[in-house]
Amino acid sequence: MSVFTQKKNPITGKTEWDIQHEDYDYHQEIARSSFADMLHDSERNRKYHRALQKAIQKMHDAGKQANVLDIGTGTGLLAILAARCGADSVVACEAFKPMADCCIKILKANRVQDKITVIPKRSTDMTVGEDGDMKQKANILVTEVFDTELIGEGALQTFTHAHEHLLEKDCIVVPDSAVIYVQVMECTYLWKWNKLENLYDEDLNFNLMTPEKMLDCAGTAAVHDLQMSQLRRHQFIELSEPIPVFYYDWSGKIPLEKRRVVKQQFKAVDPGRAHVVFMWWELNMDTEGKIILSCAPWWCHPAAKVSGEYPQDSIPWRDHWMQAVYYFPRPLDLHRHHDYTLVCCQDEYSLWFYVENVEDENDFGMEYYQRPVCDCRIHMAWPRTHVANLNDHVRNKIFLNQLKQQLMEVGNNAVVLDLNGSSLLGLFASKLGAETVYILEDNSLNLGILRDYMRANRIKNVKFLTEEQVTDDLMKDISIVTCNPNFSSALLPWENLKYVHLLYQFRKKFNTTTALMPDFCTFYAMPVEFLDLHKIRIPLGKCEGIDMSPFDHLIESSRGISDAELEAQPLWEYPCLCRGLPRKLLELDMHDINVTYARNESYQIANDGDRVQPINGFAIWTIWKFGIKQITTGLTLWPLIGDRLYWEPYTRQGVKILKQTYKMKPTDEWSCQIAADLETGQFNLNIDLVNAERRIPASKRRNSPVPLQPWRLRRLLRTSKTAN
Ligand code: SAH
Repeated sequence: MSVFTQKKNPITGKTEWDIQHEDYDYHQEIARSSFADMLHDSERNRKYHRALQKAIQKMHDAGKQANVLDIGTGTGLLAILAARCGADSVVACEAFKPMADCCIKILKANRVQDKITVIPKRSTDMTVGEDGDMKQKANILVTEVFDTELIGEGALQTFTHAHEHLLEKDCIVVPDSAVIYVQVMECTYLWKWNKLENLYDEDLNFNLMTPEKMLDCAGTAAVHDLQMSQLRRHQFIELSEPIPVFYYDWSGKIPLEKRRVVKQQFKAVDPGRAHVVFMWWELNMDTEGKIILSCAPWWCHPAAKVSGEYPQDSIPWRDHWMQAVYYFPRPLDLHRHHDYTLVCCQDEYSLWFYVENVEDENDFGMEYYQRPVCDCRIHMAWPRTHVANLNDHVRNKIFLNQLKQQLMEVGNNAVVLDLNGSSLLGLFASKLGAETVYILEDNSLNLGILRDYMRANRIKNVKFLTEEQVTDDLMKDISIVTCNPNFSSALLPWENLKYVHLLYQFRKKFNTTTALMPDFCTFYAMPVEFLDLHKIRIPLGKCEGIDMSPFDHLIESSRGISDAELEAQPLWEYPCLCRGLPRKLLELDMHDINVTYARNESYQIANDGDRVQPINGFAIWTIWKFGIKQITTGLTLWPLIGDRLYWEPYTRQGVKILKQTYKMKPTDEWSCQIAADLETGQFNLNIDLVNAERRIPASKRRNSPVPLQPWRLRRLLRTSKTAN
């Protein structure tokens, strides 16, 4: 069944009706969930398996039955492992109905449906008794309800309730306990993601002063999770040793606290400004503490090979648990070997931290050390990448130089129109001497931020417009149209075509001499080999010897329904190798915009050579031209085939992950179809290897990517009028 739903078009900004599958939302949730990546995490699976084996053996050695409860069974993996380890009974509950249904299919496929009872409920709604969900309490609990922040999925409530209602007193819990570690860091690199600084260009020419209230804002409590091991060594300074801050006894012997403040003294190992703590956790899987699962970044990871060129590649990779950064609401300068106090706060679902001088010791509790709340609008209005992007002095220099040059060419009386209110480019134009600046913006948060900047910088000649207010009369006076092609609302590279859409809308109103900056946009794509990222999407087949094909089918059909083929990923966090030449897909000239663009091209993987290239995905990005200068949203270094790739960190790239790794010859091809309509804001891109199925042994063939047929291209074009 299909239903009409409303969604916002990122290019036009307008709300549109769309026909979607009635269960679109949950299919999208399944397709985008990190279930597959979690199940590909073989270290996690193996350690759960071993700890379960030990727990069941221990119960049997004590002459007892092993009655296992698996909370949040997902695909049923841990419940099936428990049954295989000889558990006498297994009950598995799952709160997310589609997963519970999928679990039942997996139990059947593995012929264990008689050994495991599935209860499609949240554990906190389960009852024990003759008529209950469980006939008796369990004496082994196995559960994996942790997220990057450890407790963000409600683990505290889940364990507390289970011990009170579902488990025997002397039960064994897998995992037995957990420890959260933090390390105090100076990290100017990440601080740029948190606070807008006074804005300079790369030569440190001062341009815009950030209002006091933005500099003083406590920030946001929302955790910044990232693949911390991908930070470069010079991007942070360790100011403390790793500090264990919170211990969680899942076994029920020590009650779990739902709110607490813990103050820990630490010695600064180096001088520096304490900006952030880096956080990760460890699970003690068994009661003896012999099986430990660590999420530490490589420099603190027990398995890291620190002597190699890429130590980050030597530790187990996972995306379902990363590491987290917490920004201090009030950063502090630390002196080497002096003592400081780290204030660690925890509520039911989250953590936050303060750092203080030891002399400021007090007995204040949580009412004083409040969870950071943004009162400057930036953290509410803009994603972190957007803030970092605006703090990027190298980019700012490019914008400013171009703007300066244009203003000089126009001379006095320059009138500037800025099409992106979520950047500060219009305000720069005013500081650089424009007579009048118009900024296209109607979002109230963005307007508030811009007005605060105007007050702090005594800017008086800026006026805000909505699209309807861009009249012919007004437009004939505009001498420069400018836009930082990085809208705070854009996720995928092509969503910034909002700039081109607006230019197209207004094109007839411009003066012929109006300068446009940027004036070109070029799309590029390249075949790549992801070292790990593909694990979030590739089919599982078997997992710890368990047939997971019903789960693979569920993901496959959900991906089809939710149209999640192309996704936005910050590729600096996900190492990948160049496996084919970068190719230009499409070029848009702002002086000569067409309403529609359609391309259907094939590209050879390389121009020469005979080495077979393992390809499991594509990366797609744009380059915007400002005069002779360029701003990339993708590669920062042009690569040779086989090179490790370096990506611009302040925007996400478009990514397509293939179902498996295909071995392709340099003369093999990939193809790309693009269909865009700038009037209606449609942009469709399809990218795939050509005839990839011929490159792998027939026994391994799965549904191979289908080359785009002409009728599909026409459908992609849907609303387009004429193809150029
Ligand atoms: N145990 C599986 C899945 C882990 S993902 C495995 O290890 O592979 C966590 C799952 O737990 C999710 O499917 C989520 O829906 C479910 N979940 C979280 N808290 C729950 C609770 N209190 N009761 C039931 N299900 C829960």
